[in-house]
Amino acid sequence: MTIRRPLIAGNWKMNGRVADTAWVERFQDALAASEVDVLVCPPATLLHAFGELLASRAIALGAQDCSPEPDGAYTGDISAGMLKDLGCSHVIVGHSERRSGHGESDALVRSKAEAALREGLTPILCIGENLKEREEGRAVETVLAQLAASLPEARAEKIVIAYEPVWAIGTGRSAGPDEAQEMHAAIRAAWPGADAQALRILYGGSVKPDNAGELLACPDVDGALVGGASLDPRVFARLVNLSS
Ligand code: PEP
Repeated sequence: MTIRRPLIAGNWKMNGRVADTAWVERFQDALAASEVDVLVCPPATLLHAFGELLASRAIALGAQDCSPEPDGAYTGDISAGMLKDLGCSHVIVGHSERRSGHGESDALVRSKAEAALREGLTPILCIGENLKEREEGRAVETVLAQLAASLPEARAEKIVIAYEPVWAIGTGRSAGPDEAQEMHAAIRAAWPGADAQALRILYGGSVKPDNAGELLACPDVDGALVGGASLDPRVFARLVNLSS
């Protein structure tokens, strides 16, 4: 019997203006499910406004990145403590767009996840192989190596893993349910603690209402990290409604 409650998380990436906070009302109006945890991660510029709007709702707030440092002379960076201050409960770390676009190493990702944990935030740790690694049959090996190198010490319920094959992010090409299940089962089997059954492992990569059903039906897929399809409140609500 599974003890895991599904989590559907939206990653807005670098999208959204102040006027887009109207998303919250529209999303809530279209929401029918209650057996699912819902998280939205808008850009840092909208966290304060979202924090106020979500305070009275069962929708959690997350950020897309954090500094490994607690405070200090780090121009442009935002610490996990600052995110907590704004009402965040989660923070994405190690998204492939930060690993590739900002040269983030596994060691840096791990220190960001540790900073989040120190502040009581839940890190959503992203791992995933690129197309070459998949085509060469090295997908599982690559992802498990990333997991080992970027995972902080934590109990399973204090962290979320997001398996996001790089070739599926923003491409419209999702992993199939068999590929997703194989990887999620391998990640769970590699979990270093005795509490692997409590670990939530999200799938991310071109999740849409027309492919979410089969992905979320996989026994080791505990929810989704959704980019593009989270920007439209009705589409994101459909994804959440599908998951319960
Ligand atoms: C993501 O941003 O983590 C993501 C999976 O994006 P998309 O759903 O657009 O592929």
